[in-house]
Amino acid sequence: MAEKKIPYKIYLEESEMPKAWYNLRADMINKPAPLLNPKTLEPMTAEDLAGVFCDELIKQELDDTTAYVEIPEEIQSFYKMYRPAPLVRAYCLEEKLQTPAKIYYKFEGNNTSGSHKLNSAIAQAYYAKQQGLKGVTTETGAGQWGTALSMACSYLGLDCKVYMVKVSYEQKPFRREVMRTYGASVTPSPSMETEVGRKILEAHPGTGGSLGCAISEAVEKATKTEGYRYVLGSVLNQVMLHQSVIGLETMAAMEKYDIKPDIIIGCAGGGSNLGGLIAPFMGKKIKGELDCRFIAVEPQSCPSLTRGKYAYDYCDTGMVCPLSKMYTLGSGFMPAANHAGGLRYHGMSSTLSQLYDDGLMEAVSVPQTAVFEAAEAFARVEGILPAPESSHAIKVAIDEALKCKETGEEKTIVFGLTGTGYFDMMSYEKFHDGKMTDYVPTDAELEASFAKLPKVEK
Ligand SMILES: *Cc1c(COP(=O)(O)O)cnc(C)c1O
Repeated sequence: MAEKKIPYKIYLEESEMPKAWYNLRADMINKPAPLLNPKTLEPMTAEDLAGVFCDELIKQELDDTTAYVEIPEEIQSFYKMYRPAPLVRAYCLEEKLQTPAKIYYKFEGNNTSGSHKLNSAIAQAYYAKQQGLKGVTTETGAGQWGTALSMACSYLGLDCKVYMVKVSYEQKPFRREVMRTYGASVTPSPSMETEVGRKILEAHPGTGGSLGCAISEAVEKATKTEGYRYVLGSVLNQVMLHQSVIGLETMAAMEKYDIKPDIIIGCAGGGSNLGGLIAPFMGKKIKGELDCRFIAVEPQSCPSLTRGKYAYDYCDTGMVCPLSKMYTLGSGFMPAANHAGGLRYHGMSSTLSQLYDDGLMEAVSVPQTAVFEAAEAFARVEGILPAPESSHAIKVAIDEALKCKETGEEKTIVFGLTGTGYFDMMSYEKFHDGKMTDYVPTDAELEASFAKLPKVEK
């Protein structure tokens, strides 16, 4: 039978776009461990979470049994503004590598926020609006999440209050202005607006802030302001649920051309894009319907899966959020200052952590100079200027394709290209000027951080 010629880009028709998200937890044999209340160490209940998150999102967070969750019409319409995302056959990269492997990538950077984060931002803003809330608060580091959320909020007429880590606020003025263009209010964190911010400023005057600190400020603001809730762009189960749109579209596109994946690769910060990309494929693997490898790629300077501990830990530095059982470097862990490539979160989605612990998913860590080499090589042949985060996946996809060249195997490799890197040119500059270095934390550093893990007997 003649193979159908596979186009450079496989697009779905609008009518073929997913109408329900897929909740992988429903099909997992070993479920991810529940969130724990930081005060009582008992599993978090919907009531415990009610002051912080929106009601419908809490339901999604705690639901381990419903496999498909209908995507509300209004969210489907919003998705149609920038989706379906293309599944691209990387013919040019294959040619350049002279590999018999077939390489595909799912490109999520085709929207103003420049990443996959918009897939969850619109869902979270929608449920806040449905609940009759006035606004949402959040934190942003590099700015992709804040940008995505401000776009979603402006679409729905919801207030959006972003605490942006102060160093990023100062170093990435363009990101900040994009958020303000969409009507968000952006405050450098730590700020004088919150108790926790004032405390931190008093203890560390002139600090550039951190993501953990910005989370604490955003949570405080949400819980103390009538009609506001807090939203988070990664790590949580609900975010992975919304991001399953990536994997569902990828699977539908592949089925159109009878393509079967051998290896699926994604970068992992908090795990939302990777979790979303692999979800439906992993579901099939668990049911014995698909034989496929899954690889999470993380930076060597922040190696949660490859060198972390599987334990209950705080999700934030301020220790106000619930405890999550995950692969973690300790909530106080900070990647070295020379770390440019994103993915700097200390922990990992509890779902991906469980899959990794069960041996259903692999993980590798890569040094950042190798990541930027891969980014540049990719940009030169495929045209897209990738985000440093996404480039972790590119690096490992190239490595796997080169292995195929040695063995002559025609494997099908799929990776997630989560976004574009236009706001990361300072990092590219460092790389081009030869000023980028690699840092690998020592065992002693990690041990010191592990020693501060909360003592939980679960
Ligand atoms: C936020 C981000 C990531 C990492 O987040 P995950 O939750 O691990 O997906 C990866 N790529 C881009 C472009 C991002 O903005």
